[in-house]
Amino acid sequence: MSKNTPKAIRGTQDIFGADAEAFAYVVETFERVRKLYRFRRIEMPVFEKTEVFSRAIGETTDVVSKEMYSFEDRGGDSLTLRPEFTAGIARAFLTNGWQQHAPLKAATHGPLFRYERPQKGRYRQFHQIDAEIIGAAEPQADVELLAMADQLLKELGIEGVTLHLNTLGDADSRDKWRAALIDYFKKVEGELSEDSQERLEKNPLRILDSKDRRDQQFLADAPKIDEFLTEEATAFFEAVTTGLDAAGVKWTRAESLVRGLDYYRHTAFEFIPDDGSAAADALGAQSTVLGGGRYDGLMESLGGAPTPAVGWAAGIERLAMLVGGHSEPAADVVVVVEDDQMTAEGQAAVSAIRAAGISAEFIASGGKKKRFDKAVKVGSHAILAMSGGERRLRYQSEGEDSVRLASALRKLNLD
Ligand code: ATP
Ligand code: MG
Repeated sequence: MSKNTPKAIRGTQDIFGADAEAFAYVVETFERVRKLYRFRRIEMPVFEKTEVFSRAIGETTDVVSKEMYSFEDRGGDSLTLRPEFTAGIARAFLTNGWQQHAPLKAATHGPLFRYERPQKGRYRQFHQIDAEIIGAAEPQADVELLAMADQLLKELGIEGVTLHLNTLGDADSRDKWRAALIDYFKKVEGELSEDSQERLEKNPLRILDSKDRRDQQFLADAPKIDEFLTEEATAFFEAVTTGLDAAGVKWTRAESLVRGLDYYRHTAFEFIPDDGSAAADALGAQSTVLGGGRYDGLMESLGGAPTPAVGWAAGIERLAMLVGGHSEPAADVVVVVEDDQMTAEGQAAVSAIRAAGISAEFIASGGKKKRFDKAVKVGSHAILAMSGGERRLRYQSEGEDSVRLASALRKLNLD
């Protein structure tokens, strides 16, 4: 690399090889599972007006106060690269009149941008898969969404990750809990981390989420949401847990689990690797793989009518680290032309093979003697070689794949 070649931006990744295969496998599995649950695919802009995020997520959150990539465009508007999907989807729901589709089960995936300190599993451009149910107030929506997340992890073959579940109550319960937390932490204010001292009045729930030792010593005895839950909020949470049990989704209660963003009500959850599991080893300190909850207050913060909704997002890179070892698949067939007279015949064969849904690599250039060796190196179930006016088919592997392949090639008269 020459000295004047530009470097990649810090915290971005160029994903290639086995990592790229694992990434694609996560997305493909998500696509399959969201169809099983009949979530509709949506595609969203990568940027929005800055206020979409500042109003929906809340000015006091880390995401809005420290992590956004915001800039003025040539027309003088303040725009922000999306740090999450939910706010933009809520904006789209309102501006497009998607109320007519409610309850709308929507799914998407793509890149997100946050100005964070890059480390393993934490990037400045990262990617998420995302699922939302908008316009559904009933606890069955939470159950459906969580069952989908659980099935996704199972289908990805990820083990040793558990659903940690909490309720933040309704607005009334949450306000009372908030006041009690302020009272409690006020007494030890001087001993809290600087961040938490700052959060104390603005966003005391966030202190419960603190990774700082100075804060953690006070967390066990902090007031618990259960003391403040209204009857409705208790009933809602019970309906969610009963539904999860019925759906066969394992969960554990996490009384101090709060989510970083302001808009959550009722159900809040994260899927976290179990201590000592292979998943925890693979992810290190960046442990949450999937998180979300109910955000009944969000639409109002964007000027919409009250609209109950629930959703989750999961980091594709973190999921890909857990599925691991996805080598690039072997080709079904390599067509190799060793005799330039047969190039057209080779091209016709490879086209017919691909049109029949069989993967194929075509080698018809470079030194003639080296072409067959090249074909072997590709790694394939079969090699179809063309030389001396003849075709030769050589199978390189046995088993089910080859049997299926043989019958497909026979149909094409290429055996
Ligand atoms: P964390 O506590 O790890 O910062 P978060 O609460 O900010 O997570 P969410 O906003 O809930 O994360 O995003 C959901 C998921 O997206 C996370 O569980 C994680 O898998 C992934 N994620 C979030 N931020 C990043 C990042 N900077 N790099 C890679 N993945 C990320
Ligand atoms: Mg974060």
